[in-house]
Amino acid sequence: MSSDMFEKQQGTKNVANIKSLQKLFMVVGVFSIAIILFGSTWGFKSVFTDSIVKMAEADAVSFCELLLDFAKDDIMKGDASKYVVVTPDDIVRLDHGVSPFVDHLNVIKIKIFDRNSRVVYSTDKSIIGKLDKENPRLLRALNGSVDTKMKEKKTPDLREEKIIIQKIVETYVPIKNDLGLVVGSFEIYLLVDRYDQANRRGLVLITLIMATVLLGTFAVSYGVIGQSVRQVQDAHGLLQQVAITDALTGVANRRHLFIRGKEELDRVRRSCGKTGGRGLGCIILDLDNFKKVNDNYGHLVGDQVLLEFVKRVQSLDRPYDLLGRYGGEEFVVLLPETSSEETCSVAVRMLGAVREKPFETTAGFISVTASAGASTSIGEDSQLEELLKRADDNLYQAKRSGRDRVFCDNDAQC
Ligand code: GH3
Ligand code: MG
Ligand code: MG
Repeated sequence: MSSDMFEKQQGTKNVANIKSLQKLFMVVGVFSIAIILFGSTWGFKSVFTDSIVKMAEADAVSFCELLLDFAKDDIMKGDASKYVVVTPDDIVRLDHGVSPFVDHLNVIKIKIFDRNSRVVYSTDKSIIGKLDKENPRLLRALNGSVDTKMKEKKTPDLREEKIIIQKIVETYVPIKNDLGLVVGSFEIYLLVDRYDQANRRGLVLITLIMATVLLGTFAVSYGVIGQSVRQVQDAHGLLQQVAITDALTGVANRRHLFIRGKEELDRVRRSCGKTGGRGLGCIILDLDNFKKVNDNYGHLVGDQVLLEFVKRVQSLDRPYDLLGRYGGEEFVVLLPETSSEETCSVAVRMLGAVREKPFETTAGFISVTASAGASTSIGEDSQLEELLKRADDNLYQAKRSGRDRVFCDNDAQC
């Protein structure tokens, strides 16, 4: 591979790398947003749940203090060292006593345990008298600690068609006698659905705000990066164009001419013998006495002549022919799949187009002619330079024999 080809491929690779970086940014960005949203939602949820549990625990403890103040005699009996004892009459009074609290504080169930883990009072009458010895949370309460936990309670709706899941906080609050001894425990069930729903709404709102901010920031960054990538691509395209183009005339520069010429010559060599006499045609065109144009009218007018010359030569090109600036006022036309006769006749027509009518310039009309040397390779040349050398020798012949004419490979003047 030639160094030019290598450079070209490297350039294309770099642009592809930038594009894949943009894609990587997209994937990493979306992935990060998902992780941030998931992590923060989970974090906020645990903070909210924790605060509900703490609030419910505080409510349960206050409620138990109130209840104890209000119904101490119904719950505790005896002298200074009282114990939890509840009689059937006490149960009726307690039922009356707790009902207003139950309505106002979202208390859905109350149990009172004695020191032996026996249920002595419950809003659910079916469990009164039962023992709950294996309950570690109750044991903790009977050892003097408040124990709180959030639970989900599944209850069928009124028609028993579907199960309603309710969030409740279950709190064990120790009951102490006047001597400060733990003599039993309350178990309070608080319904926290209302707080939970409010928290859930807050959580959704926070998540939405965060998602909007993150997605907005990401979209703006992605847009900016996309714009930069487009600018780099445009600059790269422009650079590639500049690298292969002659600045004045816009045709291929010498470097590009050689790259393309070598590629074409390789192609001809590969299909050697199968082209029916057609190969790579090469014409070197040189303006006659161009120095005089510069000397008489100045370089700017000389440039205008060069531009018009290129225009006329180009008008006779086939789409797959390549016109390039070889140097100064010398140009090369490469004609793929062309016989030597066709190459020669194209050169003749090109000179005709130059000679045909004077060139219009800012200094007026100037008559211009050019000479050409042509050669054709059907696979015998190992280097492009050999093909160019033959064309250049023919050009020299054309100049020597009076200019404004074409010399071809077989030394024949056209
Ligand atoms: P010949 O018929 O033997 O080719 O004579 P010539 O005067 O055309 O050739 P010569 O090599 O003596 O002069 C070529 C001139 O082309 C000299 C140089 O200043 C001029 N030239 C080369 N490049 C440019 C260009 O880009 N613009 C202008 N205006 N002149 C150029
Ligand atoms: Mg010249
Ligand atoms: Mg010259």
